[in-house]
Amino acid sequence: MISDQTENSTSTRNTTLTGTVVGGGVALGPAFVYEIRLPEIAPEKISDPDNEIQILKEALAEATSDLESLKQRSMHIVCKEEAQIFEAQKLIANDPELFKLVENQILKKSVCAAFAWRATIEEFVNLYKSSKSPVMAERSADVIDVGLRVIRKLVSQDLNHLLPEQPSILVTDELSPSDTASINPAKITGVICESGSNTSHSAILVRSIGIPAIFGVQNAREKLAGLEHIIVDGDFGKIYLKPDEALTSKMQKRRQNWLQNKKAADKVKHQLVHTSDGEIIDVLANVSEISQVSKALENGAGGIGLYRTEFVYMGRKQTPSEDEQYTIYREAVELMQGKPVTFRSIDIGGDKPIDYLSITKEANPFMGWRGIRFSLQREDIFRVQLRAILRASAHGNVHIMFPMISTLDEWHSAMRIVEEEKQLLGDQGIEFDAGVSCGIMVEVPSVAVMIDDFLDEVDFISIGTNDLTQYLMAADRMNSKVAKLASYHQPAVLKVVESVIRAAVKKEVPVSMCGEMARDTEMTETLLRFGLRSCSMSASGIPAFKHNLLR
Ligand code: PEP
Ligand code: MG
Repeated sequence: MISDQTENSTSTRNTTLTGTVVGGGVALGPAFVYEIRLPEIAPEKISDPDNEIQILKEALAEATSDLESLKQRSMHIVCKEEAQIFEAQKLIANDPELFKLVENQILKKSVCAAFAWRATIEEFVNLYKSSKSPVMAERSADVIDVGLRVIRKLVSQDLNHLLPEQPSILVTDELSPSDTASINPAKITGVICESGSNTSHSAILVRSIGIPAIFGVQNAREKLAGLEHIIVDGDFGKIYLKPDEALTSKMQKRRQNWLQNKKAADKVKHQLVHTSDGEIIDVLANVSEISQVSKALENGAGGIGLYRTEFVYMGRKQTPSEDEQYTIYREAVELMQGKPVTFRSIDIGGDKPIDYLSITKEANPFMGWRGIRFSLQREDIFRVQLRAILRASAHGNVHIMFPMISTLDEWHSAMRIVEEEKQLLGDQGIEFDAGVSCGIMVEVPSVAVMIDDFLDEVDFISIGTNDLTQYLMAADRMNSKVAKLASYHQPAVLKVVESVIRAAVKKEVPVSMCGEMARDTEMTETLLRFGLRSCSMSASGIPAFKHNLLR
């Protein structure tokens, strides 16, 4: 997948860098290189440590109050999740351990609060950065952010450099959530970041601003510094360093189209869409966090076609309890007010390892212990999740979907466990929807080959073109060198997708698609021709998808 490319490459005519797509669209302009780092501070000797500690306390209180205002502002203009970033930063600013360490330095070394604070923050940042957990490593940006905010209070330094004179493309090694929140899209028209992934806090924030953004671009600052004219192609994860005239004019047109379409698409995002002969097309959202459910509704989703529940297990130290999961799933179901919500049981493994589950490192994680294979061997974890989902089913329209099913046996085993948990819940007098529908992802080729047998048993299927493509083409979806092979445009993939859809339509089994192919408006006509009437995609893709159908 192009969006997963993380490697730099060159072409003969127009040199490019590539990275992970964080925000779609096209931006052209000069590169504005910005480095986020803690400023040097001299170890000024002080004579009154108590006074210095008081100064530190005041700075921390002010920073906390700023963060509270940012949180309130985010809550109104973006969404709850963005607001939580600032809540998390408030916790860092008020971490008693951090305070104690700084206080000790002031007392023992008789240094000013700014120096002691900076030194301690640097230690914390290094600790986070060296963590084996990618989530912890990514959170180091939050620590730097809080560190800088407090330094600004202590030394009255204005570190807000995010304002180039003319509209520019921001190029940085890291982007702190605060700096991201202060981005003015009139001045910063695109973002290129060397670090970070699609799930980093900054990525979430940049996406909500709606500007093209590419993260994980190696050596971006070095390669882009001083360039007056670069192009960010956020749709394909490409950056053009020295575009020629022909490419520039083509990309300018794409930018104009993108801007116009964005406006027009926003106006129609809540409309229903049909085929030319009036059949309704369900447009659903893929979500991985509870905050994305509201975003899905705001963007006109008719339901949740894929809730990637493995993300509920990430960024923590242990598996979430049944009650914790139930609370999240119930909130999603209630927010959707009767619209369908399809919870996919955990699909960990592959590119989504979870540290605390100590899955041993595998030579081929995508071919290994992931999805339903994991769940069926870790019934303890699987059963807890199923109970939480079943309990949530009492509050709305819930569907359960199993990922990475390869054989009928796996389906039978999964369903046996579902039935046992239903029985137990019933015995305990706990409410759930006895008729909750259960289905499978079609993402392993063996299922596509045997689709008729599955269709006789399942309540629904959803085609996962991301994995189906990689397994069918034997091309790793994470490896940019085989991106052309790992493409759903390959005729073999189209043929299999067609046969699965047609088989489901023939047997009248509901079929949806939740892989990336579903949001690609260039594929919509083909998929409708195959008989597909339900597409699930990230919420940000819904307006453009509907707009395309309504034109
Ligand atoms: C897929 O494989 O197409 C899919 C939707 O699942 P994921 O991307 O989570 O593997
Ligand atoms: Mg998949």
